[in-house]
Amino acid sequence: MLSSAIKAINEKIIDMKVWHLVLPVNSRRDHGIGTVANNIEVVIVKLTSESGAVGFGEASPWAPFTGTPEGNLAALDRYFRPLVIGAMIADLSKIMSEATLVVVHNTEAKAALETALFDLAGHILRMPVWALLGEKCRSEIPLSVSLANPDFATDLSLVEKLQDDGVNIVKIKTGFKNHGFDLMRIRTLRKNFPDLDIRIDYNQGLDVREAEKCVSDIDAFAPTFIEQPVVAHDFETMKRLKNATNSPLLADESVFGPEDMRRAINEEICDGVSVKIMKSGGMMRGIEIAEIAANSNIPGYGGDMFETGIAHLAGTHMIAASPNISLGCEFYHAKYYLIEDLLEEPFAIENGMVQVPDGPGLGINVNLDKLQKYAVNCADGGTR
Ligand SMILES: [Mg+2]
Repeated sequence: MLSSAIKAINEKIIDMKVWHLVLPVNSRRDHGIGTVANNIEVVIVKLTSESGAVGFGEASPWAPFTGTPEGNLAALDRYFRPLVIGAMIADLSKIMSEATLVVVHNTEAKAALETALFDLAGHILRMPVWALLGEKCRSEIPLSVSLANPDFATDLSLVEKLQDDGVNIVKIKTGFKNHGFDLMRIRTLRKNFPDLDIRIDYNQGLDVREAEKCVSDIDAFAPTFIEQPVVAHDFETMKRLKNATNSPLLADESVFGPEDMRRAINEEICDGVSVKIMKSGGMMRGIEIAEIAANSNIPGYGGDMFETGIAHLAGTHMIAASPNISLGCEFYHAKYYLIEDLLEEPFAIENGMVQVPDGPGLGINVNLDKLQKYAVNCADGGTR
C-alpha cells in the first residue's frame, strides 16, 4: 500500500529531462524471440522538484518483447510531461492513473515515470522506496544469472566465475538454436555443477507442434522451473504443457499486467509468474500482480529486461515490499553484462544475493557524467 507520507509532501515538480542512451555490453545473447548484441538501449528520466530534489527512472525496452526506446522517449517527453510539470508530488497515484490513460502500452515509460516519482519522494522524505511501497519483507534477494551466449564455452567460464562470486542460480535461455544444443547445455551443467539451481527460459521459442516433446525432455532434468515455452497468447498450449510436466511452468510474456494475471489463473496456464516493472508499468502494478498470484499460491520471480542499475534498483525495492516474489531475481546486467553502469556506486550484490538499499529514494545516486556519455538524444521540454 502506498505510504501516506507521500501525500504530505508539499512540493511541485518543476523540471523533467529525458535521455535515450546506447550502452555497450560484453557479449552477444540469443533468446527465443531475438538477439541482443553490441549494445542495449534505455531511456532515462530525471524529475526535479521546487526544492531542487531529483528523482531518476528508467525505461528498458526490447523491441520484440515490450516496446522501443523511440516510443518510450515520446511517451515520456510528449504525453507524460504535461502530467508532471507543475504537479504536486503528493498526487503520485493520480499522475500514474493519468499516465495509464493518455498513452496505450508503453509500460516501460510508465515504469520509468513511476520510479522517478518514488525516487524523488524518497529523497524528500529521506525514506527508501520500499518503505513508500509497503513493509520490508526481505533484506536480500537470491540472484540468478541468465546463460544466453551462443558460445557455450564462454558461458561455462561465466558459471565458474559466478560460483566464485557465490552465485548459485542460473537460467538457461533455450529455444534459439536447436533442441540438442539445449539438452547438451543442461546435461553439461548438471554434470559439472551438481549443486547449481538451474532454471530454463524459452522466451516463446518453441513451435507448438514440438513443444510437448522438447519440454518433457527438459523436464527429465528437473529444473527449478521452465519459463514461457510458447508464444505469449497461446494460453491453451501453456495449460497443456503445465499439466504435462512435473517442473513448475512459469509465465513471462503471457503476463504483463494484473489483468493478464487474473486470466492466467482462470485458465490455469502457470505455476509461477515472472514479475517485471517493464511489463507491468511500474512497481505498484508489479506488487498487485504478485498479490493476485499469491491468492492462488502462485509464487513470483523477479524478472528484468536489459537494464542498468537504475531499473534494477526499482525492481529490488518492489521485491523488498512484495512477500510473494520469492523465487529470486535476475538483476545481473549492471554487474555482469554492461561494460559500464550508470550508478555512482556498484549495484550491490554480495555472496550471490542482491542487497536491498536502505538509503533515501532508490538508495544509490545516478552518475550524470556517465549518463551523458552514453546519451544519443535528449528532450528537456525546450523545443516546443
Ligand atoms: Mg523470460
